[in-house]
Amino acid sequence: MENRSATFKGSKHFRLNQVAEGVFAVISVPGTGSLGNAAIIDLGDSTLVVDTFTTIQAAEDLQAAAMYLTGNPVSYVVNTHWHSDHTSGNQVFITKAQIISTSITREIMATFGEKRLAQQLSNPQPIYQAIDEAEKKAQQEMDERLKKDMEWENASDREYMKMLPHLVYTLPTMTFDQQMRIYGSERTVQLITYGGGHTQSDAFVYLPEEKIAVMGDLVLSKHHPVMNHANPQEWLNILGQVELLSIETIVPGHGEICSMKELHEVKGYINDIVALVEEHVQSKKSIDDILVPKAYQDWYFSTYFKSNLKKVYDLITKSND
Ligand SMILES: [Zn+2]
Repeated sequence: MENRSATFKGSKHFRLNQVAEGVFAVISVPGTGSLGNAAIIDLGDSTLVVDTFTTIQAAEDLQAAAMYLTGNPVSYVVNTHWHSDHTSGNQVFITKAQIISTSITREIMATFGEKRLAQQLSNPQPIYQAIDEAEKKAQQEMDERLKKDMEWENASDREYMKMLPHLVYTLPTMTFDQQMRIYGSERTVQLITYGGGHTQSDAFVYLPEEKIAVMGDLVLSKHHPVMNHANPQEWLNILGQVELLSIETIVPGHGEICSMKELHEVKGYINDIVALVEEHVQSKKSIDDILVPKAYQDWYFSTYFKSNLKKVYDLITKSND
């Protein structure tokens, strides 16, 4: 079969990368309405999409790409976790697709997610103010890596806010608690959760025959892992279990297609952040003085480094109380 990803009309929000026949990574273009990656999997008689981006427009392009690549409408959508860059486009797919997540992810979306969205809609002014301020800060930033990441983050935040009045918050229609399989005419996919590490509940999609895993934000490639809602120890445990599967290719939540090497780098990063903060707490030094370790200095999402330290600090000092 020809590689149709090469002839897709394109989207400003993403690039398509064929991982195997009928399996496509949809890689986010920084600063657009995608923010996270997605994937399109041709099951033969039906099509599955993993994650739905930050904006409706990006999700519509994803739907068009899925239709173009597989010749079928999307029948299944998997939300790997509740974060808005993986779920906001759900409404585009709901008329034709079952939207699937873990039961915990759906519960968070139905409570915290809905409430947060109502707040954002009723009082958007503080968010606009925060973006204005962040844009000023980005202009003054001297560190080129950080400056670029700040600009991309601000641009994606603007895209999200532009979309917000049109958002119909769309919850998953099917849930699972450990594993679930979808049997298509051409391939079977496994949806798996080993609990919550990046968020309270993280799922991924595993194609055992092709040795491919679409990992959501449990694995990022050359990006600082995002730890705002994380449980670092659980995250490491989950990645330890993923290591037992037979995986050669990973579609990460952010960054380029990668392999188990990047999964190991994420483990190293989490271990390093925890060790750095522990050492600073023990010697009563401020975590504000911690610089990005050399190994991670060229990684994207550098804006998250400080908040990752703070999150781990809060976890450590709380457990010491
Ligand atoms: Zn996330």
